[in-house]
Amino acid sequence: MNIKKVILIATKNMGKFYEFKEALAHHFDQIYSLSDFHWPYDIKENETSYVENAMKKARIAGEKLKIPSLADDSGLEVDYLNGKPGITSARYGRNDEERIGKLLNELEGVPWEERTAKFRAYLALYIPEMERHYIFYGELRGYIGFNKRPGYGFGFDPIFYVPFLGKYLSELTISEKNDISHRGNALKALKKFLRNF
Ligand code: IMP
Repeated sequence: MNIKKVILIATKNMGKFYEFKEALAHHFDQIYSLSDFHWPYDIKENETSYVENAMKKARIAGEKLKIPSLADDSGLEVDYLNGKPGITSARYGRNDEERIGKLLNELEGVPWEERTAKFRAYLALYIPEMERHYIFYGELRGYIGFNKRPGYGFGFDPIFYVPFLGKYLSELTISEKNDISHRGNALKALKKFLRNF
């Protein structure tokens, strides 16, 4: 079996999808998202860990559409907030603007050195013919800024500062972000796996 031809990225989040597409373009002939299919299902991300959520999304998408599927579950963990919003990052507000506003409010008055945070991403690759998952992990440490720095990206990118680059994630192109990000690091592990598969 050759899984290197077609892959489904089990997401409707186009910000995530473009990052996957950029990283995997040389590994697959066709890369789809759920938006390319009739997809009436709402997969509840209600497991207790990122990895279980990622496995569930990949398995349901892979079984329904019968192609190898890759899902990501990720989140932002802020040290001052004891790891919040974490696994519930996507539900922290109704949209990116609300989520960012809420986080900046919660950190009001908190000095720079206490604004440390990390992004975590688990990727699950599900291969329907084999009925099995493969898991890949990546993380990125940085700081939550005081204000938004508009630009590219999605989610919390405009307020996430990467100290070793001296830039916010929103100031990076997709390819620059993939070089260093949590998802990019997990994708590097996936690409290594695909080379040996
Ligand atoms: P989920 O993986 O679909 O549950 O969503 C994770 C949430 O974490 C997203 O909706 C964003 O708010 C946030 N997030 C995850 N990865 C990133 C990223 O690379 N940049 C900015 N925000 C992210």
